[in-house]
Amino acid sequence: MSLKGNRPNVLAIVVPCYNESEIIETTIAALSEKLNELIAVGLASDSSFICFVDDGSSDETWGLIEKHADSGERVRGVKLAGNVGHQKALLSGLEYSAEKSDLVLTIDADLQDDLNVLEKMLEKYQAGAEIIFGVRNDRSTDSWLKKGTASLYYRLMEFFGVNTLKDHADFRLMAAKAVRALMSFPERNMYIRGVCVSMGFPCSIVYYGRQARIGGETKYTLSKMLSLGWDGITSFSVFPLRLISLLGVLFFLGALMVSLRIVYAHLFLDTTIPGWSSIVLPIFMLGGIQLLSLGVIGEYVAKIYMETKRRPRYLIDKIVGE
Ligand code: UDP
Ligand code: MG
Repeated sequence: MSLKGNRPNVLAIVVPCYNESEIIETTIAALSEKLNELIAVGLASDSSFICFVDDGSSDETWGLIEKHADSGERVRGVKLAGNVGHQKALLSGLEYSAEKSDLVLTIDADLQDDLNVLEKMLEKYQAGAEIIFGVRNDRSTDSWLKKGTASLYYRLMEFFGVNTLKDHADFRLMAAKAVRALMSFPERNMYIRGVCVSMGFPCSIVYYGRQARIGGETKYTLSKMLSLGWDGITSFSVFPLRLISLLGVLFFLGALMVSLRIVYAHLFLDTTIPGWSSIVLPIFMLGGIQLLSLGVIGEYVAKIYMETKRRPRYLIDKIVGE
């Protein structure tokens, strides 16, 4: 296989980790083996490395990363000052690696994504793609809750007109150029997979079957999942705000028609005894809709507030293995 440029590419593998002490050593072993294989066949340069980002773990995760980084393996570690969440941890790893590599692969620590498609991804890169998305074509190992919420979410995204790639999480190979472009997006709360799809670089897709976690439990709690989902929608769509205006117009028209009916009844019929339900029902209904609408507007205002503070996305405590 030919190589872009006349030397093998420096490949960086970025792995965000949060409380993964149960599995981190298995992951280090598997990724190191894969990377060594690629180097041996000339698909990656000898200066390639694996960058583990410790997202403020409270267990032994960082200690184990440090141990392997110190022992002369291709392991590097970035320790964040606190838990900032998967997306920001990923960004810190991408930012760290972009200047030191030609190509960056992002993958979860639990190895649910299939490493065997890496060669195929590299092939697509050689063929000209700058971003290669790993897309799951088999989610049978996911829980019904995860599958159900995911499918509902993609439908919602479609409805809101957001450009997404169904069943792509953050298993992705990116040219350093594309990573640097990603870094030029200034938003604090970035929905990385959404931005990657919409950047416009030549892209390609590689399909794989999602495997079960190699150990431990999911670190994506329901609240973290909901927050990621909401970030995805509000980052790319103002449709929820428009929906509120639309509801307002609908209710206004409804109210207009009811008013006409009341005036008609008052003038021409003798049946204008005020009904309890026709007064009380609209109060509750309109009250509910108003509160909901205020909530949605509030969410966007909160987002503007967080963005205007321009706080750093993450703080690095230390780096090892360089
Ligand atoms: N993760 C992280 N910070 C967090 C939560 C998760 O860095 O606050 C990492 C986690 O260690 C894993 C990846 O993000 O490498 C994906 O998490 P997980 O596998 O638990 O999510 P799931 O696959 O269940 O969606
Ligand atoms: Mg996982």
